[in-house]
Amino acid sequence: MSAADPACIFCRIVAGEIPAEKVHESETTFAFRDLTPQAPTHVLVIPRSHYPNAAELAAGEPATAAHLFDAAREIAAAEGLGNGYRLVFNTGADAHQTVFHVHMHLLGGRPMGWPPG
Ligand code: 5GP
Ligand code: ZN
Repeated sequence: MSAADPACIFCRIVAGEIPAEKVHESETTFAFRDLTPQAPTHVLVIPRSHYPNAAELAAGEPATAAHLFDAAREIAAAEGLGNGYRLVFNTGADAHQTVFHVHMHLLGGRPMGWPPG
């Protein structure tokens, strides 16, 4: 378990210090709607523990990494995304990671092109 970072906006959302529209939570995970949605459904699924990216989470808490995918399955079902959805971990500056508390983007509700820009 990695300690909360008081300077981290997503640690503060998990702690309830910053409001967010929660859609799901478990002992190890938390999910909320993105402030700037890029699709009709745009949810961020995060571990309660602070890790900077997906690789660090998988190395430090592999079970929690798997729990993110369990949460995504449940959220996608609850959001009615039977036609499909996209799961994305932006990792590092070139991939447009802006918040360095690992987060899975769950995007759905519209057709999406490939490759992404
Ligand atoms: P990244 O670019 O790091 O992959 O994604 C960060 C995401 O966090 C962005 O889509 C951005 O809109 C979202 N975000 C940043 N700050 C907040 C916030 O305070 N609340 C919520 N709900 N989303 C946020
Ligand atoms: Zn954090």
